[in-house]
Amino acid sequence: MNQSNIKKASKYLDKNMCVAIPTETVYGLAGNAYSDIAVKKIYKLKKRPLTNSLIVHYSNLDLLKNDCILNNNFYLLYKKFCPGPITFVLKIKKNSKISKHVNNKNKTLAVRFPKHKITQKLMNKLSYPIAAPSANIFSNLSPVSASDVKEEFGKKIPMILDGGICKIGLESTIISLVNKPVILRLGGLDKNKISKILKKNLKIKLYSKKNILPGQSKLHYSPGIPVRMNAKKIKKDEAFITLKKYKNSDKNYFYLSKKGKKNEIAKNFYSTLRKIKNKGYKSIAIENINNKGIGLALNDRLKRASKK
Ligand code: AMP
Ligand code: MG
Repeated sequence: MNQSNIKKASKYLDKNMCVAIPTETVYGLAGNAYSDIAVKKIYKLKKRPLTNSLIVHYSNLDLLKNDCILNNNFYLLYKKFCPGPITFVLKIKKNSKISKHVNNKNKTLAVRFPKHKITQKLMNKLSYPIAAPSANIFSNLSPVSASDVKEEFGKKIPMILDGGICKIGLESTIISLVNKPVILRLGGLDKNKISKILKKNLKIKLYSKKNILPGQSKLHYSPGIPVRMNAKKIKKDEAFITLKKYKNSDKNYFYLSKKGKKNEIAKNFYSTLRKIKNKGYKSIAIENINNKGIGLALNDRLKRASKK
């Protein structure tokens, strides 16, 4: 990535415009988190309800200290996993400059430290953190490459910083540390690894009745066609996805990883769903995914994608 593109992106952000950025999880649609104008643009571009708060991305702890109250659990997890695919929900400071639209005037803020060289270099040029939800239209599949973002927004955004294919390919795991630690979204970091560091079993609270959060909406991550989970037999004209490669020359057949490796399965998940949708299939069947580790996160997304 040449430096001039990073500089160009920083200039757009300084002017309250939105640019797409690569991260290790999925591509983000970034804007100055201190600016009401930039943050409102993000919601508008994504067609996202204003009640669905955004995650703010930081490059260093000092900047975060201006905005949030940090506690012991935060420091434990930060030391072990950051930068990386974990988002913390923390108490926001009264004098924080974060735009009130980022978190719908809530007393909490979701924050994370993305692990991608290009985006880290970009953030180091800025004097503010960036709000960056996934760079897709609300409820669509998340983008894992620059061309996915182009499909979502076309010329509606001035720039997509191309950082290749996302290494993890699933959104971050979200943990609230406001009171007792609670997992709010299953994601790229296995919740058991988090439990180990905090030395406790973690509660998972994926659906909340009030203040529904983006990853918690019932219809989400949707390829726009029906998805049938735990499929054993394929129906005619249906695309069929398996976790590892079987002997099958059927053109309807797609596999997520040659040998069934977990990280490859997650990495190829969204791109395979997108490919199938773009080929014009009318429905998708996917074989059973073991409900463990990353499988928990994938099944959660599939359940929401298959909601009608
Ligand atoms: P996205 O950026 O599209 O991956 O979605 C943002 C995610 O951030 C949502 O799934 C929410 O669960 C989470 N989030 C944002 N703000 C808050 C908050 N103040 N409290 C809890 N979760 C939040
Ligand atoms: Mg999203």
